[in-house]
Amino acid sequence: MAILLSNATEILTMKRGLGVVKNRSILLRNGIIEKIGRLRAKREYRMIDARGCVICPGFVDSHTHLVFGGSREDEFALRLKGVKYETIAKAGGGIASTVKHTAKASEDQLYKAGELRIRRVVRHGTTTVEIKSGYGLRPQTEYKMLRVINRLKKRAPVEIIPTFLVHTVPPKVKRDLFVKRVIDEMIPYVARHKLADFCDVFCDRIAFSRRESEMILSAAKDWGFKLKIHTDEFANIGGALVAARLGCTSADHLLVSRKRDITAMKKSGVIPTLLPGTSVFLRLNGKPDMQAFRSARSDIAIASDFNPGSCMIYSMLKIIALACLAYGLHVEEALIGATRNGAKALGIFDRVGSIEPGKQADLVVLGVDNYRKIPYEFGEDMVSYTIKKGKVIYGKNN
Ligand SMILES: [Zn+2]
Repeated sequence: MAILLSNATEILTMKRGLGVVKNRSILLRNGIIEKIGRLRAKREYRMIDARGCVICPGFVDSHTHLVFGGSREDEFALRLKGVKYETIAKAGGGIASTVKHTAKASEDQLYKAGELRIRRVVRHGTTTVEIKSGYGLRPQTEYKMLRVINRLKKRAPVEIIPTFLVHTVPPKVKRDLFVKRVIDEMIPYVARHKLADFCDVFCDRIAFSRRESEMILSAAKDWGFKLKIHTDEFANIGGALVAARLGCTSADHLLVSRKRDITAMKKSGVIPTLLPGTSVFLRLNGKPDMQAFRSARSDIAIASDFNPGSCMIYSMLKIIALACLAYGLHVEEALIGATRNGAKALGIFDRVGSIEPGKQADLVVLGVDNYRKIPYEFGEDMVSYTIKKGKVIYGKNN
């Protein structure tokens, strides 16, 4: 059925900047955006009155770890009491706890937990979600996570992009042997079974070195994966330069990236992705060098990094507000980062991330009358409708 979203106060088309169009309607048909303009109602249309509302492209959350077992609110509470992460980790908490619970959980349990989280994400206007493996560490649990992500991809109301994340070396395994196993066994397995679109590696002082990351990503590239990298979060060990050299689709975190990293990424078309939720959650003071990103004219994406240890924020609206408040992004930069540039960070901007005739009808209708109120009224539950491929997948009044 065709849907007419009528008389939106603002439509953020994301064509050149925000591309704001005022007091116009949008016609959706067969999952596609058909027309934007002054459009008349017809009897066969489902009508949605968008007066007093802002319509923007459905949010693209290009970096999440949404499938995992267990939960870590105990650790969250302890950290607020001043207990150090190292102490928590020694007592079996931290990532080891997620790895343990993920290994113990059945595929059905992981699927159900993931499904519930996706239902929440949809309520907050997100229509595309990237999900990484990475809590398995050992091959069989990594494959299990990827099978769950692919099952969600088949059935969820949103589009899911699966990523194979090489997160860290499992305990009691030699680093060089593990890297070899990733390259000789795991990457080929994931490729042959078509379990992921992207391969991602955590390149930082506490994870894989620049050389190891480069070896892993080069092997993945040869197997046809698109590439991502977690880097420059804690220490700058040259991960952004690896991203530039190998042509990663995105490089994520980038809290300690320097000017030459930012320029190199821009030159090779790597989309820098900032994750402000983790900084707030971990109460870190570091900020990305926004001036350097602006002078390089970077297409900055923002994402949630949803994960049990350092960011349990389902809502991209909150991430937009935190990008402004914690990192100093301009309102426009944050909104573009959560839509257009999020789509670029997944290599799908040809289909989603802007409101243009011919593009997929992925939209969110927000109950505010201008876009500056989106981060300004931080905390307000403002999503009236989430629409995916022309279908209402969430509606406040439905
Ligand atoms: Zn992450």
